[in-house]
Amino acid sequence: MELVRIVAGRARLPHALLIRGPAGIGKLEFARALAKALLCETPASQGIACARCDACRWFEQGSHPDFRLVEPESLPESVAEEGGERKASLQIAVRQVRELADFINLSSHRGRAKVIVIHPAEAMNPNAANALLKNLEEPPPATQFLLVSHRWHHLLPTIKSRCQQVALPVPDARAAQAWLEEQGTENAELALAQAGGAPLLAAQLDAEYWEQRAAFLRVISAPDFAPLPVAEELRDLPVTNVVRWLQQWSYDLVRHGCARDLRYHPDLAEAVARAAEKTERLQTLRFHREMLRWQRVVNHPLNPRLFLEQLLLSYAELLRGGTRRQAA
Ligand SMILES: [Zn+2]
Repeated sequence: MELVRIVAGRARLPHALLIRGPAGIGKLEFARALAKALLCETPASQGIACARCDACRWFEQGSHPDFRLVEPESLPESVAEEGGERKASLQIAVRQVRELADFINLSSHRGRAKVIVIHPAEAMNPNAANALLKNLEEPPPATQFLLVSHRWHHLLPTIKSRCQQVALPVPDARAAQAWLEEQGTENAELALAQAGGAPLLAAQLDAEYWEQRAAFLRVISAPDFAPLPVAEELRDLPVTNVVRWLQQWSYDLVRHGCARDLRYHPDLAEAVARAAEKTERLQTLRFHREMLRWQRVVNHPLNPRLFLEQLLLSYAELLRGGTRRQAA
């Protein structure tokens, strides 16, 4: 286990680690477990936290004096609306990094390490990132920085180059599914597929998400699907979800043609078959690739309504592909 490997080498631990991997796989939990192990005063076997000492108890209560967690503070709504393509309401400000100065310069309360977790590191605005960089360039003694990131390619190269990177993988699907079932998640397999294999994201999918998804699948698989009225009906749905659902839907349309087991819509085999009839394979593949591309870039389109209309018009066009083929 990665955690055990890192704490075993704690004497040689570089002063900054970049813990990276896809969203929702438990990177922050990993960073917290590592911090707790580093602060624990009577570590258990293999160096992990004992969960019994004063340090462990304070850590759990959020009051350990040698630990800081730096996370975005939500900005007012108005700023979020003006923000560009990123979710600008969630930034780590330079003030938050500067406020660490006392913590960094004073010696540790408990005579062990001081640990700072920055989560997510990509939320640092440029000024904050530069302020942090100064600390990484002249590492203060006995201070451990743990940067947590799922968009690490957005970090300043100078920051990345001063961190040792720890890549956390997407957990094994069976283990993740078992964990979700333990948490009481219904339909754990489907939820995990929705979340790209990331169990923490899957656990966050709430009743509203599932209702919206069901409503979406109902209208796009209806025999009388018409893009513009549907765009009107779905205008309040998050566009990122619509892109994801269309990506998954088109994936299964292609899959229907070759393998018969559907990945995302095992319960909608008939509707998938009906839609697959109307489409042409190569065009569906192209559409699917387009949705994958949008998934990577779309966060807050400038005009969500127009974007939704375009998506649905392009899906309607896809449905005409197979009809044309049949007519020919
Ligand atoms: Zn302990």
